[in-house]
Amino acid sequence: MDLLKLAAPVEADVKEWRHHLHRHPELSGHEEQTAAFVEKVLREIGVDEVRRAGKYNVIALIRGAHPGPIVGLRADMDALPVSEESGVEFASENPGVMHACGHDAHMAMLLGAAKVLCTMRSELHGTVKFFFQTAEEILGGAKKIIEAGEVTEKDPPVCMAGLHVNPNRPAGTIAVRRGASSASSNGMEITITGRQGHGAHPDQCIDPIPAAAQVISSLQQLVSRQLAPADSAVVTIGTIHGGLKSNIIAPEVKMTGTIRTIKPQVQKDLFEAIPRVVKLTAEALRCKGEVTIKIGTPVLMNDDATFDRYLAVAEQVFGKENITWLENCSMGGEDFAFYTEKVPGTMFRLGTGFVGQKNAPLHSPLFKADESAFVYGVAMHVGFALDVCKG
Ligand SMILES: [Zn+2]
Ligand SMILES: [Zn+2]
Repeated sequence: MDLLKLAAPVEADVKEWRHHLHRHPELSGHEEQTAAFVEKVLREIGVDEVRRAGKYNVIALIRGAHPGPIVGLRADMDALPVSEESGVEFASENPGVMHACGHDAHMAMLLGAAKVLCTMRSELHGTVKFFFQTAEEILGGAKKIIEAGEVTEKDPPVCMAGLHVNPNRPAGTIAVRRGASSASSNGMEITITGRQGHGAHPDQCIDPIPAAAQVISSLQQLVSRQLAPADSAVVTIGTIHGGLKSNIIAPEVKMTGTIRTIKPQVQKDLFEAIPRVVKLTAEALRCKGEVTIKIGTPVLMNDDATFDRYLAVAEQVFGKENITWLENCSMGGEDFAFYTEKVPGTMFRLGTGFVGQKNAPLHSPLFKADESAFVYGVAMHVGFALDVCKG
């Protein structure tokens, strides 16, 4: 079956839907108009059932003519607090908000797949379940869908797939990785408390600013000196706030950061080491150091059998020569990982870069996508669904 040929008739719709969604981006957890638009298109296409899972997550079902398994396909829906500078004619009309992570394209491609699959019920042995998920960027949407029972109780899928656009790879290609594909991403909040006083008399105060500087330096040494060189991890301090005036010794310093790991043992080690280093380094300088670890996403672990199935579809759609095998797990987090904790799943990266151009990265105000890639994305969704529901 020529999957690209199957997808071709919806290519214009996908671009049009994407342009609408790109013009009207909404932030994580506020996808009201986005959900309404996705629902409207799903009803027009003629899927068998549309329902909400929580406030704005949209679930849709296409039931095949024959009994069989349920396959899950997922697209995320939220945009970012970025002011668009891409120069595209369908640029954001919502100031300060932009689809800079390509989730507009994810939704449009999944809607395209739904439109194709609606015409193929007679060939489907099973059900295709569509997950339009909010709040990926703040790691909230997948959890809401799981809490609503849509992954394990109501029409539970036997496996799930998702894709993410990738501007670093040219349109017409796909990047894959067996096993771990995105890191576990967790946050931390650090408070270093001293005692406020006059900047001219440090002896009468406890200064948390040099203590904070020492804490930051010590944290950097955890990855380089405590972990095995072959183990990947990132400890980043992203914000630091403290102080009142140039001649006042500050009462406290607050910092936030992110911890990225792949192996569970490395994560465990860092979760033990970070509070120890913060507490004892601060104490050595007469301050009090406290850390709160904010649990984020687990590692996105591609299930081997689901991966192989998806890879076989990718070979049909792209040709073996256009599949890139990624050497390393991304240290970025992806909340698709919550689904793969519950059901076998896999996630791939769809090339959307313009050939011969320097492509702006994801989350950049200059981010753009080569829309000729979309038909490949639709073909991947359709091909995977047909493969799981082939009877
Ligand atoms: Zn994204
Ligand atoms: Zn993103």
